[in-house]
Amino acid sequence: MIDVEEAYRVLFEYVTPGPVVALPLSDALYRTLASPINCDLDMPPFDRSVMDGYAVRAVDVTQAPLTLRLVGEAPAGAVVGKAIGDGEAMRINTGAPIPPGADAVVRVEETEPCGDGVLVKSSVAVGNFITRRGAYVTAGDVVMAAGLRLTPAAIAAAATAGAARVSVYRKPRVAILTTGDELVDVDQKPLGAQIRNSNQFLVEALVRSAHADPVVLPVVRDDRDRLEASIREGLKADVLCVTGGVSMGDRDFVPEVLQAAGATFHIHKIAIKPGRPTIFATTPSGTLVFALPGNPVSALVGFELLVRPALRVREGGGAIQPVLLAAEVVGGCPATRDRQSYHPARAWVGARGQWCVERVSWGGSGDSLGLAAANAMIVCPPGAPEVPEGAQGFIMLLDPV
Ligand code: AMP
Ligand code: MG
Repeated sequence: MIDVEEAYRVLFEYVTPGPVVALPLSDALYRTLASPINCDLDMPPFDRSVMDGYAVRAVDVTQAPLTLRLVGEAPAGAVVGKAIGDGEAMRINTGAPIPPGADAVVRVEETEPCGDGVLVKSSVAVGNFITRRGAYVTAGDVVMAAGLRLTPAAIAAAATAGAARVSVYRKPRVAILTTGDELVDVDQKPLGAQIRNSNQFLVEALVRSAHADPVVLPVVRDDRDRLEASIREGLKADVLCVTGGVSMGDRDFVPEVLQAAGATFHIHKIAIKPGRPTIFATTPSGTLVFALPGNPVSALVGFELLVRPALRVREGGGAIQPVLLAAEVVGGCPATRDRQSYHPARAWVGARGQWCVERVSWGGSGDSLGLAAANAMIVCPPGAPEVPEGAQGFIMLLDPV
């Protein structure tokens, strides 16, 4: 059994970024850039107005208030050929090119219509409300470095730079295999000793939330031969995520079948509660394998602890452990024994902007219904004393929004 720090050292040693693909920009949301993006033009590409107003020569309005002759307009998207001369102004809109001869913009708010002309009420400095060509970047500059995650704002920047296709790390395909004689489908009524297969939905949803592609395999019984066939199928994906059958029961065949299928174990048992029997392995062809205990909370903890960070590395996003935030623990939290403990909890932002958290009422690691109210886990390190009411603890957010 290894501790959490050691588990991350091992995980990040064996997980590396996946293959690179070129994608149309609109398919690349939340992918990570594998190569930098250069802007193919100066930005802005021309001297342009920051405001709706009038393009003027600053020297003409030093004695403001005064009236200028109106000599046309400069709308956005049009190149104005005509220059403005002594005592002239041109109506201009936000984002429009500055007409030749003008060197400043007066905001509409500083003017009043006046016959055929415009009354300018205050003087302006040269360059007022003008963004010069190339003020942001020069053609050829790197505007987005490799390793940048394509958020909506980054997608917009790539569009500005003319990157119709982008080179990114491919979305990992994650095979999901749930195991257990007791499992029935969501649309079945469990009989006798049966329960519904919630882990299939849990892991599929987690994989999607990590911006990876789930491939759900048919549930498999606790039967060595059938399990082996399913695991071999699952190993064709980039990542295989198995739940159930990893513990000490006489029908927990997952570890031996994984080994028979060629997987090398790097982690087998972590000092966490719940989730101790968690396995991380790799195959010679490079598939990452995670085998998580069947209890829904154990499976969730194992996913957040290992699978999500591993997917992030595969997606080119770097090796990052789950972020722990300090929070005020309402109702306190019990002392921790030898294993790092995870308590399903509800987190919210308190009146002073601080994180607050309270354990959800929950029947233990088999209770997937109680888990529904949790948007965080309180994380208690091994040997931690009881956290008194209102004292500081640490949380891992499950739902970042
Ligand atoms: P196991 O890890 O196979 O020993 O399973 C531990 C506990 O988790 C048992 O109570 C199982 O019934 C439950 N369990 C296993 N797989 C699932 C699943 N796919 N969905 C919901 N509960 C499960
Ligand atoms: Mg089982």
